[in-house]
Amino acid sequence: MVVYMWKKSLVFLILIFCGCQNVNIKNSENVSINYPVTGLSVLDNEISSYINRIYGKFTREKDSNSKLNISYKYRDLNDDIINVSLECEIDTGEIFHIIKTYTYNRKKGAFLSIEDLVRDVDELDLEIKRKLLEKYEDINFEYLNSVDMNNYTIDDENITLFFNSNIVRGNEKIVYLDIPLNSLDMMVDIKDNLYFSIKRRNVDLDDKVVALTFDDGPSKYTSGILDILKKQDACATFFVVGSKAYFQGDILRRTLKEGSEIGNHSFSHSKLTGLSKDEFKNEVDKTQGVIKDLTGFTPTLFRPTYGGYTNRLKGYTDLKFVLWDVDSRDWQVKKKDRIIGNVLPYVKSGSIVLFHDNHDYALNAIEDIIISLKDKGYKFVTVSELLELVKMRENS
Ligand code: ZN
Repeated sequence: MVVYMWKKSLVFLILIFCGCQNVNIKNSENVSINYPVTGLSVLDNEISSYINRIYGKFTREKDSNSKLNISYKYRDLNDDIINVSLECEIDTGEIFHIIKTYTYNRKKGAFLSIEDLVRDVDELDLEIKRKLLEKYEDINFEYLNSVDMNNYTIDDENITLFFNSNIVRGNEKIVYLDIPLNSLDMMVDIKDNLYFSIKRRNVDLDDKVVALTFDDGPSKYTSGILDILKKQDACATFFVVGSKAYFQGDILRRTLKEGSEIGNHSFSHSKLTGLSKDEFKNEVDKTQGVIKDLTGFTPTLFRPTYGGYTNRLKGYTDLKFVLWDVDSRDWQVKKKDRIIGNVLPYVKSGSIVLFHDNHDYALNAIEDIIISLKDKGYKFVTVSELLELVKMRENS
């Protein structure tokens, strides 16, 4: 059996990936944890509770030399199905590996077992047993009869199944088998050239961070802002209005692909505080639907229009309400220098800065702002990353 024993302290990184955001918790010596945040709450909850279980056990049972390293792979198998694998390496003098995988259909909101993917599972089961006996000399027959087929990853060529290491006597390494995809009758299409990890961003726990946010788009100015963010290797969070987003699928997809985040800013940009429950939910849910349909991404953040909200409204949605602490007042002061003057003196680490991308005032100012903040040592994160970082700082 795997025995867990572990060790201490913490520094943090956050990275971003195409299709999902990545959280990295790093103890400079002994602990490094990476896991994806996909924006799909059911999947994210499963992943984070698994990480918490592993990390909890580690902190309880660690000794001074123990090490924990959790890394992951994220793959879109096709437009609907995601496969995430977590690899936990636990070093307690001996090194143990545990692989945990999730296959999730974002359209159906359901986890997929091997039975959902492969037509003849009984045949696969026999094939697995045969191959395990062929590959490993010291098979533990006690476990072979109840072999678990639900830890698997898929690449262009194989399904790779991972098994509990106790299936091989005296084995502490990863027990796995590759089964060629072309030998299986698959019930779902697997896209060629599966991708993951297009863009990543490292932020240490002690870094000065700032989250730029843009409201009221997308508009014809949004791509100009994305150009600047790309050029400056920065990112932002765009709180989009659903009725505008509806016609801007390309911009939304580009936003996510280039490592920025999308949040919800209502459907019609009406004042929210006077709305009934149904009216408010309609404003939120319609925009969630638009963004999800166009990108596959489900926002987790909501910015109330005009910054106006009540606790009553907050109770009607699971989305996190996000305001700002630095207001560029771009729509009001219009001039580049005044926008810069409204921002730079007020930014501190952890700030959320408000701009708008439905006109070109902010567009003209943000490159200078980004360059100045970089000079002061700031790193740019999305709002979700910022909130995640704040949580980690509190827990450390
Ligand atoms: Zn607004």
